[in-house]
Amino acid sequence: MDTQPIRKWYTLAAADVTDALHSDAAQGLTQQEAERRLAKHGANQLAETKRKPLYAVFVDQFKDFMVLILFIATLISYFLGEYLDAITIIAIIIINGILGFIQEAKAERSLQALKELASPMARVMRDGHLAMIPASRLVPGDLVLLESGDRVPADMRLIAANRLEIEESALTGESVPVGKTVKTIEQAMDVQVPLGDQKNLGFMGTMVTGGTGNGIVVATGMGTEIGKIAHLMNTAEEAETPLQMRLEQMGKILVVVAVLLTVVVIAAGVWHGHDLFTMFLAGVSLAVAAIPEGLPAIVTVALALGVQRMIRRNAIVRKLPSVETLGCASVICSDKTGTLTQNKMTATHVWHSDTMYEVSGSGYDPEGAFHHQGKAVSVGRDGALSQILRIAERCNNARLTCEESSTRNMLGLGKTTRFWQVIGDPTEGALKVLAAKGQNGNKNNNQQSMRVEELPFDSERKMMSVVEKGTDGIYSLLTKGAAEAVLARSTHILWKGELQPLSATLRHQVLEQTERMAGKALRVLAFAYKTLQGYRAGQPINTVESNLVFVGLAGMIDPPREEVRPAISLCHQAGIKTVMITGDHKVTAEAIARQIGLMRGYGEVLEGRELDSMSESELAEHAERVTVYARVSPEHKLRIVRALQSRGHVVAMTGDGVNDAPAIKTSDIGIAMGITGTDVTKEAADLVLRDDNFATIVAAVEEGRNIYDNIRKFIRYLLASNVGEILVMFFAMILGMPLPLVPIQILWVNLVTDGLPAMALGVDQAEKDTMYQHPRNKSENIFSRGLGWKIVSRGFLIGAMTLLAFWLTLRENPNDLVHAQTVAFVTLVMAQLIHVFDCRSQYSVFHRNVFENKYLVWAVISSLVLVLGVVYIDVLQPIFKTTDLNFRDWALILVTSGIPTFVAGIGGVLTSGRPRANKQKRSSMRTVRPD
Ligand code: ATP
Repeated sequence: MDTQPIRKWYTLAAADVTDALHSDAAQGLTQQEAERRLAKHGANQLAETKRKPLYAVFVDQFKDFMVLILFIATLISYFLGEYLDAITIIAIIIINGILGFIQEAKAERSLQALKELASPMARVMRDGHLAMIPASRLVPGDLVLLESGDRVPADMRLIAANRLEIEESALTGESVPVGKTVKTIEQAMDVQVPLGDQKNLGFMGTMVTGGTGNGIVVATGMGTEIGKIAHLMNTAEEAETPLQMRLEQMGKILVVVAVLLTVVVIAAGVWHGHDLFTMFLAGVSLAVAAIPEGLPAIVTVALALGVQRMIRRNAIVRKLPSVETLGCASVICSDKTGTLTQNKMTATHVWHSDTMYEVSGSGYDPEGAFHHQGKAVSVGRDGALSQILRIAERCNNARLTCEESSTRNMLGLGKTTRFWQVIGDPTEGALKVLAAKGQNGNKNNNQQSMRVEELPFDSERKMMSVVEKGTDGIYSLLTKGAAEAVLARSTHILWKGELQPLSATLRHQVLEQTERMAGKALRVLAFAYKTLQGYRAGQPINTVESNLVFVGLAGMIDPPREEVRPAISLCHQAGIKTVMITGDHKVTAEAIARQIGLMRGYGEVLEGRELDSMSESELAEHAERVTVYARVSPEHKLRIVRALQSRGHVVAMTGDGVNDAPAIKTSDIGIAMGITGTDVTKEAADLVLRDDNFATIVAAVEEGRNIYDNIRKFIRYLLASNVGEILVMFFAMILGMPLPLVPIQILWVNLVTDGLPAMALGVDQAEKDTMYQHPRNKSENIFSRGLGWKIVSRGFLIGAMTLLAFWLTLRENPNDLVHAQTVAFVTLVMAQLIHVFDCRSQYSVFHRNVFENKYLVWAVISSLVLVLGVVYIDVLQPIFKTTDLNFRDWALILVTSGIPTFVAGIGGVLTSGRPRANKQKRSSMRTVRPD
């Protein structure tokens, strides 16, 4: 088989391409054949720039500034004959490198998994069935279906194109969409037609902006046109979050501060008679202590693990910086259908000629019947009803499928369960079911007519029309859509069995009826038709879509998702405004908004046409109060986002269609639907909802807040620890005391025992009132809300207590410096390990259960064991300059190391009281979690 890109597929007729690739233009490939080809041709992927090999990740750990300083210190130790010190420093550097490597590799793995999750899907025919498969599994010969909003998943020769338009700027630089055809391009074999003119081909990576089509895959992966230039595009850098950037800046400032302090400490030490080498090493260790080198790595890990938690809650983060923005969201603008509601439609009412019919049955099962005032109705005898069902059935692209599963009971009797499903738009699926219910016992429906033209539904026009050619050769136009849209194009009405002009009174009556149905939270569609005289095949539908005959209405229910109501009330508590944006009727939207607790007795409803007449500033003013936007089209969304942003809001906006992409891009957090969303929307979005569910957005916001809080927690822990260490040394030198900590001890605390608890804080559980706080300000400083003060005050207390323990021990036995230093060392470690529990709460250590975070408990235990090891293991004592501790020492250590956290805890309780959330309330809120 020849799938070489050199082959000029555009010069071959569609049928020849199909033959050449041994495919089938209707059934596609068989699954077996596709597997075989996949093994032969490989995955349909562009080769990525080589991932960093693991050894390079390991080597990178030793490339930073801090390690350089330590290496110099090691060298100096070595040349001064301090071999033990030199070896120990090297060992500590290596242990630190291994810890950093493990963290980074873990973060890298979770981000890679995320990339794979977000990869695109393709609609393909296999074994004659339509299937959604990951685009990477496409093979040459596959029959692929394209729709507006899709990204073309491989290079393909088109074999059907219905107003298909593709924007190929990724390949040709030309941003005006190209109209595609299936016609063969006649060309001499030696002449190369430019890509932009190869109109019967679709190229991987380009975007379908309109129409539908299908094609046979002719090249995949690096064999595609985009594959040829892929190496030029493989340069995208992983974006850093604003917080990561700010932390990097902060790191630079800390380096300067550290160097200054080091100089002061060294100078003071030498002045008080300490020897130069010891002071140099102490200075280096202090500099290492002051620079929070581990911070950026732990931030990355916290972000990556947070992102993993979001995936478990069905939210896929596409752009890492949005994790931070999520916690700042102050408005969530959500689509109605499918996000707030279940998108499981059932047509329950049909109305025409002032007569209402109720339709029985539920879900997509086509078993059901029509009733009028409790009496069964024969559809075949009611011309208008039959016509409505005909339009519902024919002006429709959805398919109804049935799966059967058989089970046997204990007696061996078989039972078959049928499971009905809709492939396509659920609104159209519901209409298919409605039509099928009408056909029960009325089989002679006009199946013979053939569709010749289609103007698909679009949310701007709010209508869909098809032209059909009957067996008698007569063309007719069938239209369905929003009642106002269909009425606007109708001049007649089928009323009580007669064709009548659509008078103002009748028009009014139809509109009134629409409102009445909408008031019951029904989604209302209107139906109309027209016989076309003198229609030529291929004539565009919009030229004939007028003077229609209106027939009637259908109303369908779409129940709200159960988890939406608690999620909205959670948003309310969290100071986040929820806004519904829908193309549906104002009254339907309002009725559903009430059902899900969105209106709460206040809040305006604004319609698209009212919005059109408003200036930007008027809209901005209204936007604060509006909770429901009805009958809007996608462009309105962009204006709504801008209006809210101009009021200082951080806006999360959902969308699914191509036209939603600009609003999604402009919003602070663009959210795309994973199931119904188009590729274009997903690519513009920051967040993709795997289940299209509103509650998932709220879960993501909650996780976003939690991730940010956790980052603050370990920043607080690490910096307070560093401040403590620096102050011990600083004051000791200024006061002319002996060195309270030896350099190796400082290194050990910083590079080994601090890391694990900090990591564990990165995966800490949220505080109970995370969703009771107002959204944080986007430009908020990481040290705000008292964090800076907490770091300095706790650091001061830790430093002071360590120095006190040192001084008291030394006073008792002035000749045993090693003993006093060991007490100071253990006090410092213990004070930090106790303080880590304080960092879990913004109030005080007493506000949280100490054992809640199992990782933290284990991290603290392991750090403790490590410290006990260097204190009590004989061979380590000379290395770490430690000695055994007695009972009295431990009593002193426990009291002094506990004081900083205890004092701060009492202070916290006195100033903050208890957090607002209580357990009971919180557990009821848990119901929003989809898992
Ligand atoms: P959203 O998804 O934004 O919450 P929506 O799904 O209700 O809103 P649209 O899909 O834009 O909004 O539908 C707007 C109106 O268009 C509907 O109220 C309905 O009357 C009509 N409509 C919806 N789907 C179709 C369709 N497939 N064919 C014809 N008309 C339709």
